[in-house]
Amino acid sequence: MSGFEFCFTAGKVEWQALRQKSMENDLWIFLAILLGLTAVVLPTMAFYYRCRACGSLAHGFKSYKLANFETGEAFFVCRRCGDRTVKGKVESDGSVA
Ligand SMILES: [Zn+2]
Repeated sequence: MSGFEFCFTAGKVEWQALRQKSMENDLWIFLAILLGLTAVVLPTMAFYYRCRACGSLAHGFKSYKLANFETGEAFFVCRRCGDRTVKGKVESDGSVA
């Protein structure tokens, strides 16, 4: 192996290691962005879908879904205070519009 070849091989290995490292960095940046988005989006969603009666932020995530087939209305029922939010109409086939 000549000196030039050795340099070339070493450079290639280094470059590959560097590329792998930067890919790992990209992954961390991606994860950080994802985490940041989650940290922003989740409270916003929780606030937006909060229970209007008691202000429970878990309402949007943990509320019961209830359908009254007599009136044809679908509800979100708050787990904390039992407040019903009309969500829509139940179609005859059982789907909520
Ligand atoms: Zn409530």
